[in-house]
Amino acid sequence: MITRSISSTQPPRWQSLLAQGVRDVGELLARLDLDPTQAPGPLDPNSPFPLRVPLGFVARMRRGDWNDPLLRQVLPLNAESAHHPGFVLDPVGDAPSRRPGGLLHKYHGRVLMILTGACAIHCRYCFRRHFPYSEAHAARSRWQEAWDYLRDDTSIEEVILSGGDPLSLPDEKLGELTDALSEIPHIKRLRLHTRLPIVLPERIDDALSSWLENRRFQWVIVVHSNHALELDQTVAEALRKMSRTGAVMLNQAVLLKGVNDTAHAQIALSKRLFEIGVMPYYLHLLDRVAGTAHFEVEQTHARALIGQLAAQLPGYLVPRLAREEPGEPAKQVLAADL
Ligand SMILES: *Cc1c(COP(=O)(O)O)cnc(C)c1O
Ligand code: SF4
Repeated sequence: MITRSISSTQPPRWQSLLAQGVRDVGELLARLDLDPTQAPGPLDPNSPFPLRVPLGFVARMRRGDWNDPLLRQVLPLNAESAHHPGFVLDPVGDAPSRRPGGLLHKYHGRVLMILTGACAIHCRYCFRRHFPYSEAHAARSRWQEAWDYLRDDTSIEEVILSGGDPLSLPDEKLGELTDALSEIPHIKRLRLHTRLPIVLPERIDDALSSWLENRRFQWVIVVHSNHALELDQTVAEALRKMSRTGAVMLNQAVLLKGVNDTAHAQIALSKRLFEIGVMPYYLHLLDRVAGTAHFEVEQTHARALIGQLAAQLPGYLVPRLAREEPGEPAKQVLAADL
């Protein structure tokens, strides 16, 4: 059939949507009916960490609203270049945990693989915004080193595919990756850390679902959504599609001033996640990476917030408030202030 031969020679639709993302601050503001001269603070249209946001995510932003919580996550501000003591290039101590082949090994039994530096969206608060991807990611040419490391350490039961965003890689590469991992007998679980199902739900097409149906592994998918307004119907369908493959679905969020630092926003997020088959996992305190000080929420406020959630939600809908301390054997979970 004609349609079939055309579609088989074309790249998948998600790749063109990925390429069409907005990269120009003026264009983003025009799409949102915002006048740049009315900005609440100076913008930085030429940031070395440039604007990047898929059109579908822009469509979920409220027009004419500088305080839209989705917009705040992507809009480059001059404030990012201000120096703040304690805000550094590598706040979570990734450097000493680097292992050959683009691996990070911090915690017992699980290893994180930095597959790519690419993402569909550039989140201004990203804790890896200064990560040395070009020298430290698992480029295809370094995979053999990674397999050697994983094979030698039989305590490793879980590999976390991360980045950047691992789902920005093409399906063929993902397939090759899991084929190689499936030959290491002590690896039982694969975990995906990804924001793509939230920001570009078209990525979850039939080819991706078949990849996830690989039954050699137990899959855990940890998506990254910070606000209920991110989770529209298209995202809900993408997440349900992933969930139907049998994967355990979790969410991690970052607590961000001006985005989701109210009990109302957090409760709405937990309820919406549950509605679409995803359990809240971590609510991270901001990692103190250079350029992000304006997003920081005080720890006392964060603990009070978790207390409010605990008082209003069933226990399973309260995320763990977590902070990463370099050198510790696990992420630190902070108690709720009740
Ligand atoms: C966060 C992280 C993990 C995962 O930690 P969990 O508590 O199991 O979610 C694993 N490895 C590295 C390097 C990490 O930063
Ligand atoms: S999707 Fe994740 S890795 Fe990519 S910019 Fe956002 S926070 Fe950073």
